[in-house]
Amino acid sequence: MSRSKWSTESRHARGYGAEWDKLRLLVLERDGHLCQCQHCKAEGRVTLATEVDHVVSRARATALGWSKARTEDPSNLQAINSDCHVRKTQEEQGKTVKPKIGLDGWAIV
Ligand SMILES: [Zn+2]
Repeated sequence: MSRSKWSTESRHARGYGAEWDKLRLLVLERDGHLCQCQHCKAEGRVTLATEVDHVVSRARATALGWSKARTEDPSNLQAINSDCHVRKTQEEQGKTVKPKIGLDGWAIV
């Protein structure tokens, strides 16, 4: 587990990219690549997570006066499924989420 001295700077030219990638992987691995959203947790669903979400959203954290370090800390990050991420973001924005209805009249989950 030695840290490679090879620079990855050429791949992630500057700034946010490389740092976020590292943080993202850390959080995904910590959470076992499983969605940690409240819906999946409440229903005991096992959903593959490919994205990382802010538990307290950036907008909310800013409103609360949180520092960037606190907002971007792993303790405020969770692994999340991309569909759940969309849903959570919509909920945070106060939109009602309409389920998609299939041709047979049942909601598509
Ligand atoms: Zn979920």
